[in-house]
Formats: sequence, C-alpha cells, structure tokens
Amino acid sequence: MSDQTQKELIKSSILGKELFTGLDIKNRISELGREITRDYKYKNLLLVSILRGGVIFLADLSKEIDLPLSIDFMSISTYGINDTSTGVVRITKDLDESIEGKDVLIVEDIIDTGLTISYLLRNLKSRFPKSIEICTLLDRDIRRIAEINVKYAGFKIGEKYIVGYGLDYKQKYRNLPSIYELRLDTVKKDIESLKSSST
Ligand code: 5GP
Repeated sequence: MSDQTQKELIKSSILGKELFTGLDIKNRISELGREITRDYKYKNLLLVSILRGGVIFLADLSKEIDLPLSIDFMSISTYGINDTSTGVVRITKDLDESIEGKDVLIVEDIIDTGLTISYLLRNLKSRFPKSIEICTLLDRDIRRIAEINVKYAGFKIGEKYIVGYGLDYKQKYRNLPSIYELRLDTVKKDIESLKSSST
C-alpha cells in the first residue's frame, strides 16, 4: 500500500499511531532469522503458519533463515466474544504433511490471550513432533490467560487493537507495510452509520 493511501487512512482517522514501520519490522525479522538459524542448525525445521494473519510474517521470516526448511499451513476458525478469543478452535484446513519427528516452529502474527495457540499446541503435540516451539511477531503478554512458552517474540505490545503487516480488521488492512493502532472508535461509528442508512 502506498504512502499516499496510508496518509489518507490516517487523515480519515481510521489508522491511529504507527507502532512499527516497515523498516523496524524488517530489522527485527533479520535478528529473529539469525537466532533461529543458530538454534535450528542440524535440525529438521518445519515452519507452520496459521492462515491468514501469519502469512506475510512467514514469507519474510523464512527468507532470513539460512537453513533448508519446509513450510506448511493450517487454517482455523475461532469463536470469540467481544473481540476476545475463547480458545474454542475448529481446524478448517489441516497441515498437508505429517509432523512426526520434525522440529516444528509455529509462526504466528500475534499472541494475545494465548488461548488459540494453546489449543493448537495440544493438537500438534499429539502428532509426535520431535520438538515444537512458538515464534510470534507480536506478543501482547499483558493479556495472557493460557500458560505458554513463547520462544521467539518480535515486539511486545499494549492493549490497543492493531492492523497491518498481515493483521486485519474485518479482512482489511493486511497489506499495510507498517503496523498501526486501529481507531476503533471511528471504524465502529462508520459501521453503525452504514447500518442505520441501510435500514
Ligand atoms: P488469542 O487466542 O491469543 O487471544 O488470539 C489470537 C488471535 O486473535 C490472533 O491470531 C489474531 O487473529 C487475533 N488478534 C488478537 N489481537 C489482535 C489485534 O490487535 N489485531 C488483530 N488484527 N488481530 C488480533
């Protein structure tokens, strides 16, 4: 998405503060890539990405890992109440390959309560991987409910809802190169006015 379009979204109060620029993200991903390269030397690394939010991160991270590795995808639907996940997860697309004996690294966009990932961990652990760890670009650990061990985290973030670099609001804004706070007040007002004008 161009600078011009981003400026327009900021001007119309849809996007709030820019938390991480494309360059911040790129630099942090290079560091993560170096760490993972060091830790997974001589291992059978499989990156597992959860569609759709984690895909952009996975694409950039995988290029920074200097090892032969494999990639697989899963898709899930979660059931939330008021934007909070409940940990009730349904797998809508399973992995294509077996993970038995592999060193699995789950690549996530954001971990919030941790409920979704803890369900996935339980599910994947029952398939006998050699090891299984988590790498998330964004870690909102202040809201953590499930006890999980996040091995690699790009950035810690606060409470505000964010979009960009894979993260959406109602399936939009994933293609922003930076990560922004979303002005939920404006977005919700827009949706309310659309509803009232259509009734
Ligand atoms: P958890 O189960 O850890 O509470 O929720 C994780 C999922 O909630 C993420 O994979 C993501 O889809 C969604 N999520 C949580 N916080 C945010 C946020 O600030 N922005 C966006 N776009 N999605 C979020």
